Amino acid sequence: MSDGTIAGVRRCIPVYEPDLSGNELKYVQDCVASGWISSLGKYVTSFEEAFAAFSGARFGVAVCNGTAALHLSLAVLDIGPGDEVILPTLTFVATANAVRYTGATPVLVDSTVEDWTINPGGVEASITARTRAIIAVHLYGQPADLDSLEAIAKDRGIPIVEDAAEAHGAEYRQRPVGGIGRLAAFSFYANKIVTTGEGGMITTNDVQLAERARFLRDHAMSTGKRYWHPEVGFNYRMTNLQAAVGVAQLERIRDTLDAKARLATSYRARLSGVEGITLHPEVRSGRGVYWMYSILVEKKGAMNRDRLMGALRARGIETRPFFVAMHQLPPYRQPDASFPVASRLARTGLSLPSHPTLGAEDIAYVSDTIRELYQ
Ligand SMILES: *Cc1c(COP(=O)(O)O)cnc(C)c1O
Repeated sequence: MSDGTIAGVRRCIPVYEPDLSGNELKYVQDCVASGWISSLGKYVTSFEEAFAAFSGARFGVAVCNGTAALHLSLAVLDIGPGDEVILPTLTFVATANAVRYTGATPVLVDSTVEDWTINPGGVEASITARTRAIIAVHLYGQPADLDSLEAIAKDRGIPIVEDAAEAHGAEYRQRPVGGIGRLAAFSFYANKIVTTGEGGMITTNDVQLAERARFLRDHAMSTGKRYWHPEVGFNYRMTNLQAAVGVAQLERIRDTLDAKARLATSYRARLSGVEGITLHPEVRSGRGVYWMYSILVEKKGAMNRDRLMGALRARGIETRPFFVAMHQLPPYRQPDASFPVASRLARTGLSLPSHPTLGAEDIAYVSDTIRELYQ
C-alpha cells in the first residue's frame, strides 16, 4: 500500500486539482451555444446571488479574479495615498499588492500561534491616525479572530475587509465568512475551494458599497448616460463563461466542504503524535475549511521542511511550502521589523494534498510516507 506504486506505475498526487465533474461543461456549452460569453448573461447574476446567499451577505459583485476583488474593496472605501491599511505579514502577496495599487501603505502585523491568522494585539499596536482599513485574512481556510478585530476597529470607525480567498464556507461563531466584515473578497482561482478558472467576488451587506463596486468594475460608466465616465474605473468584470462554471461549482459546495472536512479528520488522525510535527489548528470560535491541510515541520536530525518536501516529491507526492511572509519580499521588506511567529510559520509550514477528490488511500499513503520519512 505504501510503496508508492500501483501495478508498477508510480503514483503522482498533486497538491490540488479542481473537480469539474458536475454541470460545469453543460453550462459552459449553454453560454457558447447562446453566444452570451462576456459579462452580460444570466450566469453572472445567478452566481452573484447564489454566492452571496452562501456567504451570508446581501450582495455579491463578481469580478475577474480575487486580487481585483481585494483592490476594488479598498477602492470603494476610498482608500488612497497617505492612508494605511493593516494586514498580516503572512499571506499571499495579492493582499499586500492590492493595498499598494491604491497608493496606500501596507502595515504588516505578526500572526498568532493558535490559528496562524493576524494577531489582534499587533493590530491594535499598529493603529495610527492614518489607519483606514484592517484586512483579516482567513489563512489556509481558518477564520481570523473577527471579534477581537471588531472590538479594536469598531470604536475607531475602521472597516474590516475579509480576505476570504481561501475560506469559502468557513464559519466564525456559526456565521459564514464573507458577511461579517464591511466587505469580503473571494478568489475562484483553479485551486480554490470554488473555482471559475480565474475569478473573484466581493460580498457585502452594504448596498452603497455594492453599487459603487459594480460601477467601478465596469469602467465607472454612468448608468444613465452611455460612455459617460465621471471618474477613472476599471475593467474588472467576470465573464458569463466563468460564472457558468461557478454556478455548477456552487451546486456541489456542500459535498466539497464535507469532503474537505473528512480529509482534515483523516490527516489529523494519521499524523497526530509525531514529535516535531504540528497539525493544522482547529479554531475554537468557528469552523475552518482546510483549503490546504497544512502542518508545521520542525527541523529534526537531518530532516527539515524543505528536505521533507523533496523526499515526498521523489515519492510522487506534491506539497507546497507556506507563503513567504511579506516582510521578507523585496517590495515589502522590513529588515528591522521582527515577526517571529509568521517567520517561523513561513519557514516550517507545509501544505499537503488537499483536493476534495483525494481518496482515503491517497491520504493514508501521504501520511504514512511522512511518518516514515520524518521519524
Ligand atoms: C488566491 C488568493 C488571492 C488572490 O486571488 P487571485 O484570484 O489569484 O487573484 C488573494 N488572497 C489570498 C489569501 C489568496 O490565497
